[in-house]
Amino acid sequence: MIIDGKEIAKKLRSSIAKQVAKLDRKPGLAVILVGDDPASAVYVRNKDNACKEVGFYSEKINKPLDITQAALLAEVERLNKDDKIDGILVQLPLPSHLDANQVIEAINPNKDVDGFHSENVGKLMQNKPHLRPCTPKGVMTMLATIGVDLTSKNCVVVGASNIVGRPMAMELLNARATVTICNSKTQDLSSKIKQADVVVVAVGKSKMIKGDWIKDGAIVIDVGINRLDDGSLSGDVDFDTAQDKASWITPVPGGVGPMTIATLLENTLTAYTAREEK
Ligand code: NDP
Repeated sequence: MIIDGKEIAKKLRSSIAKQVAKLDRKPGLAVILVGDDPASAVYVRNKDNACKEVGFYSEKINKPLDITQAALLAEVERLNKDDKIDGILVQLPLPSHLDANQVIEAINPNKDVDGFHSENVGKLMQNKPHLRPCTPKGVMTMLATIGVDLTSKNCVVVGASNIVGRPMAMELLNARATVTICNSKTQDLSSKIKQADVVVVAVGKSKMIKGDWIKDGAIVIDVGINRLDDGSLSGDVDFDTAQDKASWITPVPGGVGPMTIATLLENTLTAYTAREEK
């Protein structure tokens, strides 16, 4: 069966909108975009539109490509102090003259709705999470929606980036699964995937995971987004062959992608609630 990320994300947004309607102050999200990379601009526009849909206050901040590190840090500091803002997101990747890690660390961890600040990464590692990275958290929401109990399941995460693979593995471990994390140096990837009850793939290589690597009845979550020469999108999993083996599988597009933005809204509401309770 297909896991319909679009539908699950829509329900999540609608639940957030209902909660926001009852609040005196609107939760606020600020998104900083440096430069004019077209793909990043689309992501930022989608985030801004999603904020408006659920009734958030939203600030879309465009900075020139040649902004200095000091000026970008000053902007983050301004937003840290801005009472209307509950969540701050700096759209990645940043131009190469900027130090993304230093910028992330400058965000107040209580406003770090991407969950990339070392304080939030550490809390996830300790299984005491506060703000959790959006894509892996969105995947956990999808798994909860289909009703899978992850306890004792063999889970294989393919990809080990800070944004997806590593926090994904930690989320699954926190759910009491047994987790294998693979990277570009992993040997005999197919035999590892053949053992997996749940496979999460976040690599960025179109259709690299073949259907005959998938165990019968496994759950397959495809995080990859690859633009093909004809302009269409494909995932990291060869969907046509994998869907015959999997019990549940996410499509690309319409799978994990919509969950990431809905989870960003969820994180902003979490950050808002935590600030209001202080
Ligand atoms: P990165 O390039 O940062 O990381 C890729 C990871 O894949 C690395 O850990 C790398 O290993 C590993 N890898 C590369 N080749 C192989 C291989 N042959 N076998 C096993 N592992 C391999 O990518 P991201 O994590 O940022 O993104 C991954 C994909 O997910 C992309 O397509 C991206 O567009 C998509 N994405 C989708 C999102 C969504 O909302 N749906 C959100 C974020 C990303 P090593 O560590 O050894 O280099």
